[in-house]
This record gives sequence, structure tokens and C-alpha cells, in this order.
Amino acid sequence: MTTDDTAPRSLLDLTFAELEREFVTAGLPPRHAQSFWRVLHHGLCQDFSAAVDFPPPLRRWVAEQVGEGRRFFVEALTAMTDIASGDGQTRKFLLHLADGQSVETVVMGFKNRHTACLSTQVGCAMGCVFCATGQMGFVRHLRPGEIVAQVRHAQRALRADGDEGLRNLVLMGMGEPLHNYDAVMTALETISDRRGLNLGPSRITISTVGVVPGILRLAAEQRPYRLAVSLHGATEQERSALVPASQRWPLAELMAACRTYFTKTGRRIFFEWTLIAGTNDSPAQAKRLAGLLIGLDAHVNLIPLNPTGGFTGIATPSTPVRAFQKTLQLAGIPSTVRQRRGIDVAAGCGQLRSTRLRAERLPSVTV
Ligand code: SAH
Ligand code: SF4
Repeated sequence: MTTDDTAPRSLLDLTFAELEREFVTAGLPPRHAQSFWRVLHHGLCQDFSAAVDFPPPLRRWVAEQVGEGRRFFVEALTAMTDIASGDGQTRKFLLHLADGQSVETVVMGFKNRHTACLSTQVGCAMGCVFCATGQMGFVRHLRPGEIVAQVRHAQRALRADGDEGLRNLVLMGMGEPLHNYDAVMTALETISDRRGLNLGPSRITISTVGVVPGILRLAAEQRPYRLAVSLHGATEQERSALVPASQRWPLAELMAACRTYFTKTGRRIFFEWTLIAGTNDSPAQAKRLAGLLIGLDAHVNLIPLNPTGGFTGIATPSTPVRAFQKTLQLAGIPSTVRQRRGIDVAAGCGQLRSTRLRAERLPSVTV
């Protein structure tokens, strides 16, 4: 992230209010901000030299301010890799960032009902043992524009296929969204803005490993997005073995934060549980999980482990998955079994990037 005021800025980093301020400072009527925003975010415009129906003062501003060597630019992320899974339901992009780093964006689902899975950081500092992103360590936060640009890339790819575009977004790609709170909130404001990309806040899910201050802030600020909390263990000892971040924000504190969130917002919380054979998939563990969730409006997403290079565990087979689910059901806790889609395109979190780093023999990154 740059602190140099003279460095060119990505227009995708700006909220609508910031753009409007820019226009007012430049002596343009604020309504021009609406027209410009619409072409930028609704029209997914990349090259403004073609936006000929702008009024002359706006066209002049664009000519003076936007483009190579000027104050603003519109970033485009190019796909280093673009692969579709054999079943045609998952398309995975490894997107190239301006500094040579890369992030993964996945588009899943059926026609006109697609969900995009976005990254919020390059790598991740949280170190969950089974996660390919955790295994690569933290490199850097993404800027808001780099998060918005992933949505634009996915929208463009879908529209090119004759699709209406995205229905849902999940922040479940590389990185921990609440460790990059401000950039993520700015990006989501832009993504959900009705004048532009217009993805409704109730169709956007933020998934967190359990960053307690972030959860409390979401509640205090009454952010309108859905919240998913990755648990994976229902005792401190079992959780910490899989999720080192639990030592910083212990399970008891995390559950207290979830209760505060529920009291303040009245919203359902989704809990994610990666099922690892013989580790966290017994009926007794399901019972303990149900016990943790009493009094919350909770829904559990069960995700059989997607194998990664740095972890020897294997996925829970379908019979114990069903038994786990049954135990939750008897305790009154609804759950869904979700596959991490497209294992054949390395669609687990961070897997495509690690595969590519290995293939190119680039040094992998460390914290
Ligand atoms: N950092 C956030 C969001 C990104 S990870 C979080 O941890 O919630 C999104 C989800 O994928 C998390 O629930 C995570 O535990 C899960 N996950 C990561 N690697 C996985 C793997 N190899 N198999 C199954 N689930 C995995
Ligand atoms: Fe980070 Fe989430 Fe992976 Fe854990 S599961 S290492 S928090 S991206």
C-alpha cells in the first residue's frame, strides 16, 4: 500500500463518496460522478477513451486525469491461468497483480446463479495447518481495488459466456478478510453499491477464522453482510491444533463475540467445519459443537477436507459425514455438506497458486 500522494491511484480504490469529492474539487457537478461511476462499475469500463457520450467537461477530466502517467488508472487483472473443472461447474482464475504477485478467484455454480469466491490477501498469516494459503504464509494485504477487480474479472468472464453475471459472493479465497478489515469494507461498499456492481449485501458472505475484534467491529458498525466463522474444533485444544490463531483469540472469546454479534444484529451465523478423518469427525465432537452453538441462530457448513501438499490428513468419508450431520440434526442444529468444488482444478483455497509456484520453481513465500 502506498503513502505517496503523487503516485497514480486505482479508480477502483475509491468509494462513491471519494469520487464525488474528487469531482467537486475539480469543479465538476456531482451528478457527473454518478455518470462516471455507472460507466466504470455497471458498464465495467476499462478504457475511457471509448466512453464518448460523456458531457465535454467530464470527457476533459477523463483525458487529463485517467490513463498512463496520469493521476488515476483503472486496474485490470490478467489471468495467468484460467481453467474449468471437468464438470463445467467451476472456473478458476489465477490473477496477476501489478507487483508480480497473484491471487485466486473462483467462479462456481450453474447458469445465472454463479457465486464468486474472492481473495482478500496474498497468502495468509493465520497458518491453519490444512490450508494451502496458510501453508504459504503472509505476503501482503490486497487493496480495495484489487478485490473489486476480481469481481469485475468474474463478471466479464460470465457475461462473455452469455450469463447474467454473479448472484453471490463469498470471501473464502486466499487470506483472512478481517485481518484486512478496512480494505475489505471499502471494497464491499463499492461491490454492493446499487449504482454500480449492485451485488446485494445479503448475498455477500465474509468468512473469518475468528478474528474477535473484527467480528465485534462488524456488529458495532452494523455491517449488512453475512458472517461465517471457521471453527473446525469444539474444544480449545482440538481447535488450536488445526487453527493456530485460536491461541490469540481463544474459542471461549470467539463464541462470546459470536453471541455479541447475534445480540446486536439478530443475524444468523454460519459456522464452517472442515471434516478431517479421525481428527474432528466423531459424533462426540458433533455433540460438543452443537453445545457451543446453543442460543445462536446457527447453520453449520460441513466441508470434507480438500487434500493439500503440506498436510497429511484425509477427508472424512461419506458415512461418518452423514453420522456427524445426524448428530447435529438431533441437537436441533441445521447443517449442509459442501464440497470445495473442482478438486481437479486445484480449487481449494490457495492451491492453484502453490501449484504454480512449485511448477515455476519460484521461492515460496514466508511470513
Ligand atoms: N480466512 C477465512 C476465509 C478463507 S478460507 C477463513 O478461514 O474462514 C475459507 C474456508 O475454507 C475456511 O472455512 C477454511 O477453513 C476452509 N478451508 C481452507 N482450506 C481447506 C481445505 N484444504 N479443505 C477444506 N476446507 C478448507
Ligand atoms: Fe488463512 Fe482461512 Fe487459510 Fe486459515 S483457512 S490459513 S485463516 S485462509
